[in-house]
Amino acid sequence: MQNNRLIAYNILKKNILTNGFCTGCGACQATCPVNALRVKDDHVKRLQDCSQNLDLCPICNEVCPHSQALLLRSAGAVADAPIRSEAVGYLRKSLLAQASDLKARKKGSDGAVVSALLTFGLESKTFDCAVVSGADDKNPIKPKAQVALTPQEVASAAGSRYFPASVVEAYRSAVIEYAKGKIAVVGTPCQALALRKIDVWGHKIGGKAKVIIGLFCFGTFATNPFFRHIEKKYGLLANDVTGIQLSHDLVLTTKQCKVEMPLAEAKMLTNIGCKTCIDFTAEVADISIGRAYPHKDWAIVILRTKAGEDFFNSALQRGAVVTRNIEKEPEVFEHLIVAALQKRTAGLVKASKLEKKRDFVPVRLLRETKTLADIKVEDIMTREVVTVPSSMRVSELLAMMATKTYIGYPVINEDNELVGVVTIEEATRVAKEMRQKIQVGDIARPNVSVCYPGETAFDAFRKMSQLETGRVLILNPANPQKIMGIVTKRDLMHALMKQATESAL
Ligand SMILES: Cc1cc2nc3c(=O)[nH]c(=O)nc-3n(C[C@H](O)[C@H](O)[C@H](O)COP(=O)(O)OP(=O)(O)OC[C@H]3O[C@@H](n4cnc5c(N)ncnc54)[C@H](O)[C@@H]3O)c2cc1C
Ligand code: SF4
Ligand code: SF4
Ligand code: SF4
Repeated sequence: MQNNRLIAYNILKKNILTNGFCTGCGACQATCPVNALRVKDDHVKRLQDCSQNLDLCPICNEVCPHSQALLLRSAGAVADAPIRSEAVGYLRKSLLAQASDLKARKKGSDGAVVSALLTFGLESKTFDCAVVSGADDKNPIKPKAQVALTPQEVASAAGSRYFPASVVEAYRSAVIEYAKGKIAVVGTPCQALALRKIDVWGHKIGGKAKVIIGLFCFGTFATNPFFRHIEKKYGLLANDVTGIQLSHDLVLTTKQCKVEMPLAEAKMLTNIGCKTCIDFTAEVADISIGRAYPHKDWAIVILRTKAGEDFFNSALQRGAVVTRNIEKEPEVFEHLIVAALQKRTAGLVKASKLEKKRDFVPVRLLRETKTLADIKVEDIMTREVVTVPSSMRVSELLAMMATKTYIGYPVINEDNELVGVVTIEEATRVAKEMRQKIQVGDIARPNVSVCYPGETAFDAFRKMSQLETGRVLILNPANPQKIMGIVTKRDLMHALMKQATESAL
């Protein structure tokens, strides 16, 4: 008799597929040793019952970006980056960029930085191919993941398509069918995570992605529900729509007209897996790229790994892209941070709601409570706490947030005593014209999460969750107005990752 409990597909089906969390990345198909799976849009079809021939196979569930497996070890790919941003993850540097070539720039979504980097990578032989997602032959608003061997093929895939693409399966094809070993891959955050999982799993197709470019992502549309919706509400057939642009609204273009769908309505039509997703900026990619609102034709570039930074710098030196300093663009920075935090909050709220109804919800990184209980807060806290005076103006605070790692600060009075905490949420709620006048002390939250030395990282996590905040202050027991240190959620994740990496050695 077959022991179906050891067949990963059973878990994948129960947790991911039946609950509708699949976002069509193609990792399960790409890694299946017996070609039992076929991914189309956001669905996985089982072509054969692998349990007839196998007693044990753990693969497809573990590499799925929505399963709990291998998360911390995958995040280890970026963990040596010197900056730990609370909102956008580990990074070395962030900046604004666009393609140098004006003609190429016009074809891209946001200045064609992605296409310019890929073109440079192919021409300089840094890569021998790139996995991109160009327009599907039958329906151009849908993507078709494919292997690009020439700059022309890269250029023809420029632009964004807001439906799932089987990027990891195209990566497999680059490794196996095209026999390539230096591959660039462009994908959404979940596709980037699936590639990292394949690497840490030690799968035979792993380790060939030289640079992973992750795109910022609000979600992909659930294919069939999206097309049913636009037909019912706007009278548009799937094949009528020739283009989709994302700005303040979602703009659907047909040969005859343009239809504007409010963004809130569009977000309702994304996959369920996107609604619980908390990663906006592709936190495990080598380089993350997304729109630099409000600037047209410019993108934000986040350099996370050394490989990503070295590659980007050589493209910059050779004139493939031009850059601008993000520190001088507080509006761009504010938009990015708010979008990242909104996605994280919405994802966690949705996951909490679903948890009541289902026995599985994906990606809750900070669940390793047992490990956290073994770590003391004083061992992981940052001791040089950056504080802000209560007399600081909100405009000064936002400018400071644009150049520093943290998006929340303890506020102190003239006697160096704690009066509260101020975060980007309170600061951005102040109307723009009032930011020069209002002081930080006027908007600081007095209700602060605190711990004392001797308490554990789990205590810190519990207290953060109670107040729905991202940080806890460690206070001096002899004088609770004085701050000894600070621990953020990012510090907790870092500690967990360190433990996961050490125990894997
Ligand atoms: C589904 C999706 C959602 C996005 N959501 C946001 C958002 O909310 N906010 C934001 O700032 N930016 C978002 N982006 C990123 C943004 O649209 C641009 O891709 C990014 O700014 C890079 O622009 P560019 O001009 O440099 O890229 P280009 O030079 O135009 O290259 C774009 C690349 O994206 C790839 N691509 C296109 N569609 C897909 C797809 N479905 N899956 C995987 N790869 C694809 C293509 O292969 C191409 O290489 C999203 C992108 C996608 C694909
Ligand atoms: S053989 Fe394929 S479908 Fe079956 S459990 Fe393994 S990876 Fe999944
Ligand atoms: S998200 Fe990717 S790995 Fe997970 S079930 Fe869907 S296609 Fe397979
Ligand atoms: S929102 Fe998350 S799950 Fe959905 S496509 Fe984007 S990265 Fe993947």
